[in-house]
Amino acid sequence: MSPLPDGVLREACIDVGAIAHNVRHLRELIGVPVMAVVKAAGYGHGAVRSALAALEGGASRLGVADIAEGVALRRAGITAPILTWLHAPGTSFVEAASHGIAVGVSSMAQLRAAADAASTHRPVLVHLKLETGLGRNGIAPGEWPGVVAEAVRLERAGAIVVEGLFSHFSNTSTEDDAAALRAFEDGVAAARELGLAPPLLHIAATQAALSMPQARFTCVRLGVGIYGLSPFEHRGPETLGLRPAMTLRGSVAAVRRVPEGQGVSYGYTYRTRGPATLALVPLGYADGVPRAASGRAHVSIGGTRYRIAGRVAMDQFVIDVGDDPVCVGDEVVLFGDGARGVPTAQEWAQAADTINYEIVTRIGPRVPRSEVSS
Ligand SMILES: *Cc1c(COP(=O)(O)O)cnc(C)c1O
Repeated sequence: MSPLPDGVLREACIDVGAIAHNVRHLRELIGVPVMAVVKAAGYGHGAVRSALAALEGGASRLGVADIAEGVALRRAGITAPILTWLHAPGTSFVEAASHGIAVGVSSMAQLRAAADAASTHRPVLVHLKLETGLGRNGIAPGEWPGVVAEAVRLERAGAIVVEGLFSHFSNTSTEDDAAALRAFEDGVAAARELGLAPPLLHIAATQAALSMPQARFTCVRLGVGIYGLSPFEHRGPETLGLRPAMTLRGSVAAVRRVPEGQGVSYGYTYRTRGPATLALVPLGYADGVPRAASGRAHVSIGGTRYRIAGRVAMDQFVIDVGDDPVCVGDEVVLFGDGARGVPTAQEWAQAADTINYEIVTRIGPRVPRSEVSS
């Protein structure tokens, strides 16, 4: 990763080689085709670059939450199969159909709307989602046979093609996930009896794909893992053979020598314990640096770690570097690949009482993304 050029306050540097590596590694480890999940701007890494890197690494298909995200991938020229699963009330699926984007269907109403979109286009690709206990969307088990029967009818009529059956775990406990898995298996068996046996069965996201081999079926939907982050609270990505793809960094924008007892940032929640140099880091909560990490998270400058001094503000925060010779323009790494000795997104998550997913996805639009491949 080259140094930050002059005039650049901050950036998130995305290693697309790491994403390709992670997909390739997970594909081999898990042994079934991978749907790479690139929703929410590729978890903050950029949807198109993440999608291209994932396909390069051997992903067979892509998953996004909503149709607009899928259409954006098509507009960027991506032709791989795409599944989308979260739809606004009353959505017409015409746009999805015209772009050949498969729709996850969570109700009879959505199934019929999907079939309606086929009248002027080719058959709409459908994955039926069964609710197995997460309490979000998905077809309730009691309604499943009716929706499946209708899907069989619509498929025979040429309006839809059912490509898959799927669900999603709650990652609550071994027992809860085992119960969800049984519910899914029952749903698959019931569908078969009604004449529906699509090629794709998928329930596992990264965590279950790694920890529940019996949940892999014919496809896994991998999000966090492809970005090189661990879905497990107490296991780092290096223990899974993953390489974090995002490095968040900035340039020291100002340094100031101050006496003992100097209050720092809003509310003076930090005061210097002796004469010290304060370095100003030009990223704040508007950029996705969690205010909850004020006084808790660490950054790295030239290989040394420093804790945030005082509160994170909207655009900036301060670190106390003591007597170290930190200068304007020095690179500050907030988080990146722990193997390089810098703090990790997981450590930031701990400091802010959240999860690494939230740390990377909230990096804001004011932070330019740059791209490297290693
Ligand atoms: C976000 C999402 C995924 C990916 O989850 P990870 O834990 O990031 O692997 C998979 N499936 C669905 C339905 C999702 O919403």
